[in-house]
Amino acid sequence: MPEQTYTLLIAGIALLMMVPVFLIGKKSGDYLERIRRLEENRVFEKKIADVDSGRNELLREIEDLRRLNEKYLFFVLRIPEAVKNLNSNLTFDETVSSIIRFSKDIIDTDCIELYLFNEESGRLAIEAAFGSNRKNKITVPYGEGVIGKAAEQRVIISRANMPSLPKKTGDMIFYGAPVMFRNTLIGVLGFGKIKNATGNEKRFIAMIADLAGVSLQNCERLSTAQHQANTDALTGLYNKKYFAERSLLEAERAIIDNSPISLFMFDIDHFKKYNDNNGHAEGDYLLSELGLLLKENTRGRDIIARYGGEEFIVMLPNTDKKGAYLYAEKIRELIASTAFRHREKQPLGLISISGGIATFPSDSDTIEATVKLADIALYKSKEAGRNRVMCYEPASLG
Ligand code: GH3
Ligand code: MG
Ligand code: MG
Repeated sequence: MPEQTYTLLIAGIALLMMVPVFLIGKKSGDYLERIRRLEENRVFEKKIADVDSGRNELLREIEDLRRLNEKYLFFVLRIPEAVKNLNSNLTFDETVSSIIRFSKDIIDTDCIELYLFNEESGRLAIEAAFGSNRKNKITVPYGEGVIGKAAEQRVIISRANMPSLPKKTGDMIFYGAPVMFRNTLIGVLGFGKIKNATGNEKRFIAMIADLAGVSLQNCERLSTAQHQANTDALTGLYNKKYFAERSLLEAERAIIDNSPISLFMFDIDHFKKYNDNNGHAEGDYLLSELGLLLKENTRGRDIIARYGGEEFIVMLPNTDKKGAYLYAEKIRELIASTAFRHREKQPLGLISISGGIATFPSDSDTIEATVKLADIALYKSKEAGRNRVMCYEPASLG
């Protein structure tokens, strides 16, 4: 074989051998490209997944915010009603139950308790509750447990933030919120475990406690004002105005129940002399002492009033004339036998009263007229020599 042919053959073989190398090289390039694309896809898919989970998180957040917003709205909508309650002359019991109802509306829990602080005993007494397993009138020491700590520290106490607090068996309270008016502690509102919590419950609890403070204070003020309007400052007994209003109500009730009301009216004998001899201040003191004696010796259901200067009246519901006479004589004797100051200087050597009794509806068909008849009987007692009680009798007295 000529050398040229040989060279050509070698070159041909070499060329032939390069074809697969070229082919393999091309193939591997495709493969890498595909891997790259796959990788890109995966990154993209991951990005999409990330976006999805971010989106879900956002949706969850939106849902939470929506629920929170709903709660705020719910709360805000109830504020006018709560404020209206505060100004609607509620009694103490009505105020307390409206606080519990309001709390129940706002906070999703199985247990709400309202404690009132008693400064004298230094304890908090349960006043009203919803879903509580506490016994009626239970008291908690100031500074003890969630309730006592809330009172002491004047901030909302959460059991979760105070792991050192011992959890007593049966204690359902998780939050304690002090109920204050200005700087004065009125009590503590306790809340059980909160369901479907949004994380903002403490703010709601704080607002509820604030409203409770205002409403309880309002109620206290109202009852003080009412008490002042209805009572006589010197003796603490009811005044004539209250007696007149109350007697009308009692008369209505007596008619329905078909029961009598007796009135015992009395006046201190020679009281002018007492003042003249001992001074007006001593006269005042005697009036207040007499008020005390009356209160201590009269049933809770009866209504005692200072009717005038040294004139008193007692309304005895469901009491006939005979019963009223026994009561009146007991009071007269008690006064006559009590060692009041300066009694010896009085004309009879003691403090005495003259009284008259009349009964509704047997003596008169109106309670106002019955009062006048008791007054007539009183003056008959004065005429008969004082220090005595007489009953109104139409035949002999009229
Ligand atoms: P009688 O036995 O007839 O009832 O004689 P009396 O002196 O008690 O009756 P009179 O009506 O003459 O006098 C009542 C006195 O009561 C006169 C008045 O100054 C006095 N008085 C009325 N209200 C008060 C009061 O709030 N405090 C004091 N210290 N005295 C009063
Ligand atoms: Mg008089
Ligand atoms: Mg008198």
